[in-house]
Amino acid sequence: MRYVQKAASGCWEWTGRLQKNGYSTFYCNGKIVRGHRWSYEHFIAPIPQGKEIDHLCRNRKCVNPAHLEPVTRKENRRRAMRSHCVNGHAFTPENIYMHDGKRYCRECRRIRVRAYQRRKANAKKQSLSKESRSTI
Ligand SMILES: [Zn+2]
Ligand SMILES: [Zn+2]
Repeated sequence: MRYVQKAASGCWEWTGRLQKNGYSTFYCNGKIVRGHRWSYEHFIAPIPQGKEIDHLCRNRKCVNPAHLEPVTRKENRRRAMRSHCVNGHAFTPENIYMHDGKRYCRECRRIRVRAYQRRKANAKKQSLSKESRSTI
């Protein structure tokens, strides 16, 4: 755990060695272990045979077991292709936040909050809606 840095996003970012493909890695009993696989098996359960660990947060450095889910190779590939939210915002580590094990788009949330505040401001018939937009 001394290589793990808990980020504001909820991700446990690996600060140790990374593979070329961005996944965390370390040596354990003379074997190369991938951080996220180790974390899942250590905190949750053994990974079922034939399953890969998918990062729900799309952050390959992340080893937070709450952000990891064993899926089939097919499912993993299908998910990797879904790199944008329903509104077309990119699912980057910075734009994702996790809630109840699901991924959500920050940009969509910002838009929802803005729309809500605008409605509220209009309802009050105040001219403050422009300022409130810039304070979010
Ligand atoms: Zn994460
Ligand atoms: Zn979005």
